[in-house]
Amino acid sequence: MYDTLHIMRSITLMAPAKLNLHLRIGGRRPDGFHDLESIFIALAFGDALRVECLPRDGAMEIRARGRFACGLADTPVSRNLVGRAAALFRERTGFTQGLRARLVKRIPLGGGLGGGSSDAAAMLLALNVLSAAGGGVRLDDDELAALGAALGSDVPFFLANTAAAWVSGRGERIQPIAAPSRLWFVLVHPGIPSGTQAAFRLLDEYRARVPGAGKAASLAGNSAATLIGVLAADPRSWPFVNDFLPAFTEAYACGELGGVAYTGVIARLREMGAAFAGLSGSGSTCFGVFTDQAAAVKAANRFSRNRNFAMVTFPLARRPIRY
Ligand code: C5P
Repeated sequence: MYDTLHIMRSITLMAPAKLNLHLRIGGRRPDGFHDLESIFIALAFGDALRVECLPRDGAMEIRARGRFACGLADTPVSRNLVGRAAALFRERTGFTQGLRARLVKRIPLGGGLGGGSSDAAAMLLALNVLSAAGGGVRLDDDELAALGAALGSDVPFFLANTAAAWVSGRGERIQPIAAPSRLWFVLVHPGIPSGTQAAFRLLDEYRARVPGAGKAASLAGNSAATLIGVLAADPRSWPFVNDFLPAFTEAYACGELGGVAYTGVIARLREMGAAFAGLSGSGSTCFGVFTDQAAAVKAANRFSRNRNFAMVTFPLARRPIRY
């Protein structure tokens, strides 16, 4: 990690996936975004980002490999979120050092697991370390959070030094909470990516169309303190919901989105012993929460047989490295 002069030249960071145990969404705001209330959990599974300084100024080369790199490898640097994070950091700090970044992409794309946002946050954290090590600007946490929020609503969570949080606002208000322990999560990605923007649009349309559905838009319900408190209880008693789920279920029932039946996957996870099951973010990853590891492994294996992306993971106890 250090060269012979002890100047940091490269850094490798884990970019964890997240899931939303709970996700309530308010109405569309004048700025086009939606207020939300959510429990974010970082997972012990994710991408890895290595960033290396090059001797010359200017150049930026970003390459991706790994199971989910294909879509990314073809994306010009200026358009993918990792490249945009680097460009924004440079613009804000004047850090012009040439860069070579290698991304190992294990988090499915369009999966509601925050992969792109986590990679972008890792890029900002990496560049902040490399810039400071070379005698350049070091942004403080608030400045980094502001850059993160400009890149995407999920990025601030990944910049916060916590493995679990109550998240509100448009995603930028982060209240750290304790991650639940001794649970295994089975992730099942049904193979069809779900775009965030389209999902929000579909939710708005659903609420306009279906009488009573708009009620959820008030974010009324259990208080934050109640929901955070219940996290330590048996997952069978969790009152968590995902507001996208009824909208998706209705749209799929009309055959609009290719017949991916989230409710079917969730019901199967429950049959296989999940104490709680739901949908992460705006999809398309469904998850089951298991108290028994063997049952979790068995469920993941059964889903994998149908060529879905399925795996067992668990909540991160804390963020692995913080410089
Ligand atoms: O912030 P991000 O780029 O991830 O958001 C993608 C799209 O999702 C936004 O353009 C917006 O349409 C929608 N969105 C929203 N409310 C949020 C987060 C995202 O409406 N809190």
